[in-house]
Amino acid sequence: AQSDIQASATPSMSDAAAESVGGLASPGDKVKIGFSMDTFQEERWLKDRDLFKEAVEALGAEVEIMAANGDEAKQNSQAETLIGQGVDILVVVPHNAESTAAIVKKAHSVGIKVLAYDRLIKNAEIDMYVSFDNEKVGELQAQAITKLVPKGKYVYIGGADTDNNAHLFKKGVFNVLQPLIDSGDITVVYDQWSKDWKPANALVNMEAALKANDNRIDAVIAANDATAGSVIQALAAQGLAGKIPVAGQDAELAGVQRIVEGTQTMTVYKPIRALAETAAALAIRMAKGEKVIAESKVNNGKIEVPSVLLSPIAVDKLNIDETIIADGFHTREDVYRNV
Ligand code: BGC
Repeated sequence: AQSDIQASATPSMSDAAAESVGGLASPGDKVKIGFSMDTFQEERWLKDRDLFKEAVEALGAEVEIMAANGDEAKQNSQAETLIGQGVDILVVVPHNAESTAAIVKKAHSVGIKVLAYDRLIKNAEIDMYVSFDNEKVGELQAQAITKLVPKGKYVYIGGADTDNNAHLFKKGVFNVLQPLIDSGDITVVYDQWSKDWKPANALVNMEAALKANDNRIDAVIAANDATAGSVIQALAAQGLAGKIPVAGQDAELAGVQRIVEGTQTMTVYKPIRALAETAAALAIRMAKGEKVIAESKVNNGKIEVPSVLLSPIAVDKLNIDETIIADGFHTREDVYRNV
């Protein structure tokens, strides 16, 4: 399934030449990667951390990991620390798509390349972007829900406005909804971002959506499973959990458990291992000064960024076994624990 992810590499300079360029690993030395993460708030980021480290080490390199607890300023200073430690390349999950451009500038000023991991860094000359097709994530959500609810009142609970992915997820959702909105079949009665992806903010949003519509809502699409959890909490408080279809994404354990329990309709599974392994392999080649050519290009407002975009997979109660469980993303025991 991951046959579309290869990026080709050809050495672009001799070892001797590579040695003299800043930010490149010296021949014979272990490549050292700096991994600057935004947060461990969602369960997935722990998988990203562990699987990335595993992949890097399996390829004979090493990684120093720092996470900023959702704090933009902290991420900035942590990235500076990594740069100061002399990492050969920086891999970044940006908290803020725009302000992280400053990190890219700083890294480049000392010859360190930057790979954006999962989330795009905007308006910066980043060297590589490895993620999923995030617009497709939103499309998969809306396709699943419109199949069940072809007409009615929809609520969209968005992610963090500062995360480019939140915009892509929403764009994908509206790619599917717009024709149905135009035909009058669907009305979007509520549509808000959830600041910093915080479930508490999503809860406030969902409560407001219910209140404004006297609980008369037919379907909800939430930008991830954590915010979907808040949606379902708000629905439960009104006796509506399990009665209104809800979509999430990430295939978080709690989300998948809600699917088998019947309060969440679907999630979108993004195989994190493939993301981590692809990013690790590319980062190491780039750190060695090898030329890496990615198949796709994504415009980040400044340049066409060489990109690798993996495929997300829609998951509902019918295909949990052949996807999430078959891949070992969660165990069967964990998924069915509460039913
Ligand atoms: C990621 C999601 C995650 C969200 C909140 C997004 O950029 O793609 O998987 O749930 O950030 O951390």
